[in-house]
Amino acid sequence: MIEFHYRLTQFFNMNLSRNFTLSELIKSDTAIRKGINNNPNAEQIEKLKALCENILQPVRDHFGRVKVTSGFRSVDLCVAIGSSPNSQHAKAEAADFECIGVDNAELFDWIKSNLEPDQLILEFYTPGEPNSGWIHASWVEGTPRASYLHAYKSEGKTKYKPIIGKAVDLV
Ligand SMILES: [Zn+2]
Repeated sequence: MIEFHYRLTQFFNMNLSRNFTLSELIKSDTAIRKGINNNPNAEQIEKLKALCENILQPVRDHFGRVKVTSGFRSVDLCVAIGSSPNSQHAKAEAADFECIGVDNAELFDWIKSNLEPDQLILEFYTPGEPNSGWIHASWVEGTPRASYLHAYKSEGKTKYKPIIGKAVDLV
């Protein structure tokens, strides 16, 4: 039993890149509360590593601490929280995050100019309110879609609009 716990701790503390551990990319209060298995398989762990190496670590190196609010979500967890089981979170290709003290529009623009996300979404950001919303970014092997979107609520529904220029210019 002690050996089992030791190996489990080692598993969760596994580094995906210099500053990111597996536990940060899979933690979910809902999964814990409802006893849902949110552990990725070996192939999904490799994809989370690629996401960290190509998106999260460069953001960390440039802006400092990154707060990951949601990374991998198993299909069971997606169903429990009403998120699509087809989302890139379920494929271990996406994460939602913020950098403390950094305007999310500024963060969006830096990623767009410096990295190669598959899809980058400025989620529920209100122009003029730097702390509003968060960033959703995905990374895939091969050719990225280079999809840049602003998600917002309109009449109770989530809508997406392409961001053509800079997010800091949104009004
Ligand atoms: Zn997301």
